[in-house]
Amino acid sequence: MTVVTEPTGPTATRIQLKGLNMAELESWSLKQGEPAYRGRQIFEWLYGQGVSDPAKMDNLPRALRKRLAGEADLTAASILTRTVSPSGATVKYLLELAGGGRVETVSMVQGRRHTLCVSSQVGCNVGCDFCATARMGLLRNLTAGEIVDQYLLAQADRRLAVTNVVFMGMGEPLLNYRQVLQAADIFHHPKAMQLGAGRITISTAGVVPKIEQFVAEERPYRLAISLNASTDASREQIMPINATWPLAALLKAARAYANRPRRTITFEYVLLAGLNDTPDDAARLVAMLKGLACKVNVIPYNDIGGIYRRPKRPAIDRFVAALRKGDFPVLVRWSHGSDMAAGCGQLVAEAA
Ligand code: SAH
Ligand code: SF4
Repeated sequence: MTVVTEPTGPTATRIQLKGLNMAELESWSLKQGEPAYRGRQIFEWLYGQGVSDPAKMDNLPRALRKRLAGEADLTAASILTRTVSPSGATVKYLLELAGGGRVETVSMVQGRRHTLCVSSQVGCNVGCDFCATARMGLLRNLTAGEIVDQYLLAQADRRLAVTNVVFMGMGEPLLNYRQVLQAADIFHHPKAMQLGAGRITISTAGVVPKIEQFVAEERPYRLAISLNASTDASREQIMPINATWPLAALLKAARAYANRPRRTITFEYVLLAGLNDTPDDAARLVAMLKGLACKVNVIPYNDIGGIYRRPKRPAIDRFVAALRKGDFPVLVRWSHGSDMAAGCGQLVAEAA
């Protein structure tokens, strides 16, 4: 299904409604000469029922349904390909975006959990050396509608309600702050997807001013920080962003987040052989994270054909054992779907 965005008349330009929040849909309705509650109804159809076809919105007057079909776009993305893991638990989608470009979305089912890993940008310009997305550079930010459609398309395709969303796909979510938060607010809204705020996680490479804004605005969502090193020297080697916001500034912002009640922060730590995987690294992390309400996810590196290697199993075990001396839980995340290039850091989308 391709979204047609050509004007339908000399002055008509189609308006994209997917991604608008309730207030915006209400004001769109008022502009059409309709009562505001029509906007609320459209909101519920789009995000609560997952219905994007105006013909099916049977509590709307016929004329409004016609106008929606003629003048508005209600889909912001479509599925190009799907790749299923051998076990069937993981599905990777390649999506075509209405605004141009392609992204990948990964759906992972584990027990009662259906976690969706969504993309926030086409590519990324943060330049982490171990990440496949970085090689694309940044093409553009996604709209909230394109983020929301990743959810709706994957959920409909899998016929299984999403229980958790992680902004860990392509892109740096905090460099597309407004659209990412607008999408998160839709996922969380009681008339939309109704996901608990604790089931929505935004992951960042460490854009400190945006973390501070996130805290200042009292956003209720979970925050994950890709730490990936125990010293500034080693972090800067693999993550150029560390030159702008070094560890001290990053941890200060993390503490501001975690200091609030019931806020545990997650640190991700991609384990790279010979670079950040020694027991000394683990000991430095234990000291660095002392007293911080956090957990650490260790992610053994997923190969992207570069200079890095995943440490051998005994080295991973030694590192994790040393890290477990800290007063925080440690989880090893063996990426789902790394055998089909759907693991952390392996997402790319070839140009059309
Ligand atoms: N831009 C955000 C979110 C997307 S990346 C961020 O960097 O946090 C999601 C996670 O995948 C990050 O923790 C990142 O460090 C990790 N990652 C990137 N490349 C990886 C690779 N090749 N193997 C394993 N994890 C990787
Ligand atoms: Fe961008 Fe995250 Fe990849 Fe770094 S790890 S290049 S921030 S997507």
